[in-house]
Amino acid sequence: SKRIFSGIQPTHHLHLGNYLGAVRNWVKLQADFECIFCVVDLHALTVPQEPAALLKATREVAATYIAAGIDPEKNILFNQSAVPTHATLGWLLGCITPLGWLNRMTQFKEKAGKQKDMAGLGLYSYPVLMAADILLYHATHVPVGEDQKQHLELARDIAGAFNRQFGTEFFPLPEPQIFGAATRVMSLRDGTKKMSKSDESDYSRLNVTDDADTIALKVKKAKTDLFPLPDSVEGLEGRPEAANLLNIFAALSDKPLAEVVADYAGKDFSSFKRDLSDLTVSVMGPMSVRLNQLMADPAELDRILARGADRAQAIATPVLDKTYDLMGLLRPK
Ligand code: ATP
Ligand code: MG
Repeated sequence: SKRIFSGIQPTHHLHLGNYLGAVRNWVKLQADFECIFCVVDLHALTVPQEPAALLKATREVAATYIAAGIDPEKNILFNQSAVPTHATLGWLLGCITPLGWLNRMTQFKEKAGKQKDMAGLGLYSYPVLMAADILLYHATHVPVGEDQKQHLELARDIAGAFNRQFGTEFFPLPEPQIFGAATRVMSLRDGTKKMSKSDESDYSRLNVTDDADTIALKVKKAKTDLFPLPDSVEGLEGRPEAANLLNIFAALSDKPLAEVVADYAGKDFSSFKRDLSDLTVSVMGPMSVRLNQLMADPAELDRILARGADRAQAIATPVLDKTYDLMGLLRPK
């Protein structure tokens, strides 16, 4: 049977890319599979965080999951640091991961910037912790965006290395959970860069916390080119900003891209952008209302997360115990 693990870092407000590329798909998965949804706060620590902001973002990401339609009773929803087993397994797996594998990771290269020597060890070993997150639950499927594919590939390699080294089939190799054409939402300021929580410009993204006026303003200011909208999907080639906005429209309206392109063929950006901001508000508006309600009661959110952590720990503990046994670590019985 299938078991899904997925997580998002509480580094900032979630944005439309996180929603269309991740959370919206999770909402669909929960009907058919056993799902574990995590707020990966230990991953957030791989870049500097202000403690109060991290704490608030952890609750906010959990609230966003729920506001988007994830049921915390049916699924397991918790924050990563509440189950210390993640960090422990991360250490054990780090001990069998060759440096050469980590040196290939493109996200480290992007996030470390020019001064590689100043980047933290945690940022470097991030993919090992991610492997631990998944393997700890014997998750079989991981819904990942394009940007996380390389890390999932590494998690499979680490699982394989462990199984070979200790002569078992203990860790199942996790597979990517694919959703038709993957939605990759790009920055509103640069159609060649992905929309990201860590982009310094807030105008680059639409946050789930933005109100209708902010959404309208950001869409209005979104970068475009000077030509009318094309009359075919092929006409989007070489026009990354136009392609991104039309893709967002298609994803939010659940229509094929070709249909949206046909609807706006030859039109200018201003009328299209008005429709796009209305559409965005209609999808994101109700979510942000629910999000605000949930954030108004942090004690209740904490209770939900604590219950989730207990359920997660109950799965994780026997897996870690067995890993100890396989590796020869003495464990009080
Ligand atoms: P950060 O800049 O802190 O890395 P992020 O926006 O990349 O933040 P993550 O927490 O790294 O968000 O990723 C959470 C999930 O959202 C992952 O499943 C990832 O694939 C997905 N995701 C992130 N950005 C996008 C995007 N622009 N389009 C589609 N999916 C995305
Ligand atoms: Mg990211």
